[in-house]
Amino acid sequence: MKYPYPALFVGHGSPMNALEDNDNSRAWRDWGKRLPRPRGILVISAHWETSGVAATAMPCPRTIHDFSGFPRRLAEFTYPAPGDPDLARRVAALLAPEPVAMEQVRGLDHGAWSVLAHLYPTAAIPVVQLSLDRGRDAAAHFALARRLRPLRDEGVLILGSGNLVHNPCRMDSHRHEGGYTWAIRFNNRLRRHLLEQDHAALCALDGTDARLAVPTPEHYLPLLYVEAVRDAGEYLSILNDHIEQGALAMLSAWVGHMRGAT
Ligand code: ZN
Repeated sequence: MKYPYPALFVGHGSPMNALEDNDNSRAWRDWGKRLPRPRGILVISAHWETSGVAATAMPCPRTIHDFSGFPRRLAEFTYPAPGDPDLARRVAALLAPEPVAMEQVRGLDHGAWSVLAHLYPTAAIPVVQLSLDRGRDAAAHFALARRLRPLRDEGVLILGSGNLVHNPCRMDSHRHEGGYTWAIRFNNRLRRHLLEQDHAALCALDGTDARLAVPTPEHYLPLLYVEAVRDAGEYLSILNDHIEQGALAMLSAWVGHMRGAT
């Protein structure tokens, strides 16, 4: 491969993005066309937290509907991508000596499939999910994620799925576009830290804006798994940079070579 395989962080937003034809889903379909076909996909989703680290290792992961209050057609949606036990074992080997539990029951959550449904609509590419260890701070997540960098040379798409500003208590469903002042400030700050590759700042999350934008870390941490596998000085594109419902940042970040970029 001429370039390391790209890595992608996607702001996933509402689970309804899986079904809707909107600006988000159209962007994700476009990115799927620009990505070379990966040999597998490793997803780090906000919606799988564990004590310790785990990876899905079953041949046929089921589709998990880990939400309520949405239409039945969303609860009936399936994303029947195969699993990849060999990729799960490869991830465990890279993270050693950190133990990685080989998960045989849990399948793919909506942080994974709501995005993959558009990136790869045919569900033909194997998918493994890696959990977020609750016992780890941001810097420790970043250090762990760095060990996944060889996967990019092996044709694996590392896909982080979360939202960099995610405060459900402040979201206003009637407010479609434009963020609260603190959300815009924090989003701007993160964009700058990403472009400068300021890893200490990305892991620090200090200040009032950060406390409002990231009241709990799980939607933020998947970004670190993508930035951690980015080489020093490697190109990063900021995409889909808008805020929904006042407090839900959809900003996405693409690391590496982009086919068709202008
Ligand atoms: Zn979410």
